[in-house]
Amino acid sequence: MLRVRFAPSPTGYLHIGSARTFIFNWMYARRNGGTMILRIDDTDVERNSEASLNSIFEGLNWLGLGWDEQYRQSERLDLHRRMAQAIFEKGHAYRDFTPAQTGSVDAEEKNEGGQWVANAGMRELNVTESDARATAGEPFVLRFRVPRGEGRAVKFEDGVYGAQSKEADDIEDFALLRSNAMPTYHMASCADDADLKISQIIRGQDHLSNTFKHILIFEALGVAVPKFAHLPLLIAPDGAKLSKRKHGPVVSVTTYRDHGFLPHGYVNFLCLLGWSPKDNREQMSRQEIQDIFSFEGINRANAVVNFTEADPIDPKALWLNGQILRSMPIAELVPLVKQRLETAGLDFPEDMGQLESIVDIIRARYQTLDDFPTRGLPYFADEFPMEPAAMARLEEAGARELVRKLGVRLEASADFSEPAIEAELRKLAAEKGVKAGVLINGSRAALTGQAVGPGAFHLFTAIGRQRSIARLKGV
Ligand code: GLU
Repeated sequence: MLRVRFAPSPTGYLHIGSARTFIFNWMYARRNGGTMILRIDDTDVERNSEASLNSIFEGLNWLGLGWDEQYRQSERLDLHRRMAQAIFEKGHAYRDFTPAQTGSVDAEEKNEGGQWVANAGMRELNVTESDARATAGEPFVLRFRVPRGEGRAVKFEDGVYGAQSKEADDIEDFALLRSNAMPTYHMASCADDADLKISQIIRGQDHLSNTFKHILIFEALGVAVPKFAHLPLLIAPDGAKLSKRKHGPVVSVTTYRDHGFLPHGYVNFLCLLGWSPKDNREQMSRQEIQDIFSFEGINRANAVVNFTEADPIDPKALWLNGQILRSMPIAELVPLVKQRLETAGLDFPEDMGQLESIVDIIRARYQTLDDFPTRGLPYFADEFPMEPAAMARLEEAGARELVRKLGVRLEASADFSEPAIEAELRKLAAEKGVKAGVLINGSRAALTGQAVGPGAFHLFTAIGRQRSIARLKGV
């Protein structure tokens, strides 16, 4: 049974790279009929915060993919300690009393020959003395006893990067428990992976070097070693690793949400960062991605996210989002638009059918949900700006006068259907000897303040009879 997990540490908001790791785990689980687990890695009490935990959930909930099981490491400390104890009892770990005073767990160093040297004599400390000192209450760090001088290499086959190997002699005796008895990341992570029967670990490439240590822990515990797949990192256009501190908003999932991205627009975009279906497809539904997602499609090269200091949004993401926004079922889009309009305090028809038809008419040129309250303002408010290009349309061939006249005629007619409006407009143009286009462009300018937009006759009905007439007459 395939079981995967996404294991964020609540030390900041949901990072774009973490979101992609989550999505790749999710796609892999769904593709292979597996179970998706969310595990909150919150054992680092000094760096964790409740606010960060909330913002991670906020980001994950927005993605809308969900998960099957959920755990918090801080509720499982006993398990981590019990497993550390088991490793100790089997002789694969030892107590190191040296660094306990400083609180550091990284006191080991390499000697001139390039070998790891344990803190003076600690690795060799005999059990009786070790027990006596522990019983006397002397604090210690519990350290893994990495095999030394045996020519042992730790190996695994990475799902993305292929065969990996590291000499055990090049791995330091890393800590399992700190002197305050808190498990380190290595211990907590492996204990949970073992207990939760994780069969495939999918995580960032920055964890690849940890995997050798983790394999040693799994072996010492005598449990099955999971499979591993490490994901290429996300980098900035200048090649630097994406970081919250250096690159700011682009790194946070909520930035995209707040810019009016559709959850699936973002998911689709993230999937293409480092993975491809190998057939040039870009816009893909969740189901399409899920049906073919595999590690073979993952490129080993780091993936570039494009953004500038002034604009945190990747143009590819914007393009994809626009494609999705225009092609998704209108009934799914309208509630999202409605929410945006409500937040912006705008005025929209109560009637869902009517709102649907407006949204359907105007979405043809939009890219994000934000475009509805901004570029779509004339459809949902009486005050809106007049673009210079629209103004110019009204000054052409006496358009302004004609538009006003059209307003008067439409007011006198009971029929406000598109064919009736078109007939009235063409009749007036013919009477005055101008091209219908002059009146069409002039009407668009009067109705929306914009020089380009949806087909002219749709416009009138989208804006509604009363508003249209007032705008035409008052231009
Ligand atoms: N909490 C770790 C992180 O956020 C998890 C790494 C892992 O997946 O093992 O990097």
